[in-house]
Amino acid sequence: MENIVSVSIKTAPGAQTASAESWYRASAINSLPVTTVRENVQCRVCVVGGGFAGLATAVGLQERGFNDVLVVEAGEVGHGASGRNGGFIFGGYSLSPQALVKQQGEARAREMYQLTTAAVGLIEQRVKAYAIDCQHRAAGVMLADWFNRPDLLQQKQRFMQQKLATSWEFYPRSELRRQLDSERYYDGLLEREAAHFNPLQYAQGLAAKLQRGGVEVWQNSPVTEIKAKGNKWQLAVAGVHVETEIVVLACGGYQKILRAPPRSAILPIATYIMVTEALPESLPELISQPWAVYDTRFAFDYYRPLPGQRLLWGGRISIRDPQPQIIEAMLRRDLARVFPQLTEVKADYVWSGLMGYSRQQMPMIGQSKPGLWHLTGFGGHGVAPTTAVGELLAAAISEGDQRYRWFDHYALKPVFGHLGLLAAQLNYWQYALRDWWRDPQK
Ligand SMILES: Cc1cc2nc3c(=O)[nH]c(=O)nc-3n(C[C@H](O)[C@H](O)[C@H](O)COP(=O)(O)OP(=O)(O)OC[C@H]3O[C@@H](n4cnc5c(N)ncnc54)[C@H](O)[C@@H]3O)c2cc1C
Repeated sequence: MENIVSVSIKTAPGAQTASAESWYRASAINSLPVTTVRENVQCRVCVVGGGFAGLATAVGLQERGFNDVLVVEAGEVGHGASGRNGGFIFGGYSLSPQALVKQQGEARAREMYQLTTAAVGLIEQRVKAYAIDCQHRAAGVMLADWFNRPDLLQQKQRFMQQKLATSWEFYPRSELRRQLDSERYYDGLLEREAAHFNPLQYAQGLAAKLQRGGVEVWQNSPVTEIKAKGNKWQLAVAGVHVETEIVVLACGGYQKILRAPPRSAILPIATYIMVTEALPESLPELISQPWAVYDTRFAFDYYRPLPGQRLLWGGRISIRDPQPQIIEAMLRRDLARVFPQLTEVKADYVWSGLMGYSRQQMPMIGQSKPGLWHLTGFGGHGVAPTTAVGELLAAAISEGDQRYRWFDHYALKPVFGHLGLLAAQLNYWQYALRDWWRDPQK
């Protein structure tokens, strides 16, 4: 690609974007070269969105020797959900495994599920192969039972094994209590192959790998318009035009300014995270395994230990964006309910992020017009699935692989804007109420 000038910037903590408030952003040293666009350019593939979906597609293409690719990101790489999530890397999709089997049948559901467990491994491989410093820990993810229903937990374990060929380990309550010092939980299921990491550093590491291999990543470069030009596409980006044969729209829940097909099929729903101040010496006593943990409620908490004796704690969803003080108060209440020992612990960082939900809670991949691809709708469970489905898209573009059609069932369907958001919020409250009703410790 020609006529591009590269400069290096550092991201200043406290910069204006909302993500600057996250612990990830505040502790990151962004040495990713930022490319400033000067003139019109041409490329084979233009990926719009520098989140995991866009980056996984671009890296997948590059790994297949396909380098005439440009990635264009409205903010900084990882500005969206990918650079501010909980960092859980585990199998599955936002849609429950039971619903996946029901919709797809056992054989296809198993293949689709295994795409995501393979992606857990692929992420680790890429971390190692590209020397990405992102605190990757292959420590496992624990699903802790909130409801004292060992029968349901064992049923889930059997289901996962028999239908989806995964082996989750059962932890009786006494054993779990030795690892997590909380009265809240009963038994647990450990997904041992799962992992956690610093997602922003991973996103930046992928972008750096792309740039080293000759794929440009333009940051602070919003795409404002896409139109057909002959049998190609023309994108308006920060005052210049990009002409390309193939467009990949991977904008998640952040596709605000661009009127292009996936937008009306995505509900942007907020969820929250805080990172505590450094805890006194007690963290290893409270959580003695370096697992990432979530629980069996619909409206679950999720947390994991961070370097520096901090705890990352997340939960809740909302269609509103409340003040950080309100989020902090909610999350600290949730934390104290599980670990009353930490009632006085404060949050140093509090932030929110937008998940892009489709109506079917499954990723949507396909072409709305020839050459105009979309890859979106990963919801609240997207780290491994973006990698998995990004691989399918890279294989489709470079090799004509048709496996992406496994997702044909999940076409772009309208979500009806504010009405859809309201319905999602009511649905969440209804399930949260059901969680409360079933809580044996209420
Ligand atoms: C707080 C939070 C916690 C989560 N925790 C987990 C977790 O622990 N594990 C898990 O598996 N999943 C988790 N998720 C979900 C996961 O992060 C997402 O599913 C996934 O990151 C989606 O990736 P994406 O690339 O589709 O979207 P995004 O990461 O949102 O990326 C989209 C990008 O497109 C860019 N963009 C938008 N419009 C334009 C435009 N016009 N021009 C150029 N660029 C544009 C945006 O700036 C953005 O960077 C969480 C999500 C949130 C919000």
